Amino acid sequence: MTRTAIVTGSAQGIGRGIAERLARDGLSVTLADLPANKDALAEAARMITKAGGTCRTAFADVSDQSQVDALVADHVAALGGLDVMVANAGVTLIARFMDTTPEILNRTFDINFKGVFHCYAAAARQMIAQGRGGRLIAACSISGHKGGDWVSAYVASKFAVRGLTQSVALELAPHGITANVYSPGMVDTPMYQEIDRMVTEREGTPRGSQIRKMAATIPMGRFATPADIANVVSFLASEDSAYVTGQSLVVDGGIYMN
Ligand code: NAD
Repeated sequence: MTRTAIVTGSAQGIGRGIAERLARDGLSVTLADLPANKDALAEAARMITKAGGTCRTAFADVSDQSQVDALVADHVAALGGLDVMVANAGVTLIARFMDTTPEILNRTFDINFKGVFHCYAAAARQMIAQGRGGRLIAACSISGHKGGDWVSAYVASKFAVRGLTQSVALELAPHGITANVYSPGMVDTPMYQEIDRMVTEREGTPRGSQIRKMAATIPMGRFATPADIANVVSFLASEDSAYVTGQSLVVDGGIYMN
């Protein structure tokens, strides 16, 4: 039986890398993202199909439970079941703590935390009904392990994802369903390019200088690629990780050691 996966936020960046890798691992994958990113989503799917993978696309705003429920229902109708949910979609809204508005706080939590909650809930219902276990996987961050300046809401949302994952792992272990997160450090994606743009504009420094500055602080001396993160997610999605649950796998080139 071909295993299947949903990857949210997979039009670009880390999510796209994960979708490519899971398809290469032989899973049938639904790539899900926002309608605003439809061209990139179609291109990501086209490249996977061209490489011989099996995939389809869907739109879902993960902050809306009903859209996530529909995403899972459509996936199951199309592919016959769900084995792996990768709740990857997330946003980084940069603001000093004292300038963090209710809008920034709500949007950060609606997507980064509630988005994961919705994905876990909809997927777990399906996996329990199937009775063959499953894998719940979410994007955390080294910001889910330690605080940082200008990102207090983001950090709080990622700590929340880790707390949720540990609790879900406990409750769903009897069903053979594992729940784990991957915690990247700094990854070269459109998200980090945007962080570079915001920081360099704020500081009046050349574009790209923030990325170069941060890369110099990484023991491995370089940013991660989406493939570096996808390698670890491939393990978490595989049969080999059957006895791993409630964990955060930090993939950061040696910045944060736990
Ligand atoms: P990215 O911004 O490049 O891509 C995120 C994708 O999520 C986009 O395609 C976007 O359209 C989609 N998305 C945003 N809001 C959504 C919503 N409400 N519903 C559905 N899709 C939505 O980001 P990335 O760098 O690839 O990051 C992916 C995940 O990894 C995020 O959760 C992020 O917090 C986490 N992360 C990234 C880094 C990094 O350095 N890039 C580091 C640590 C953790």
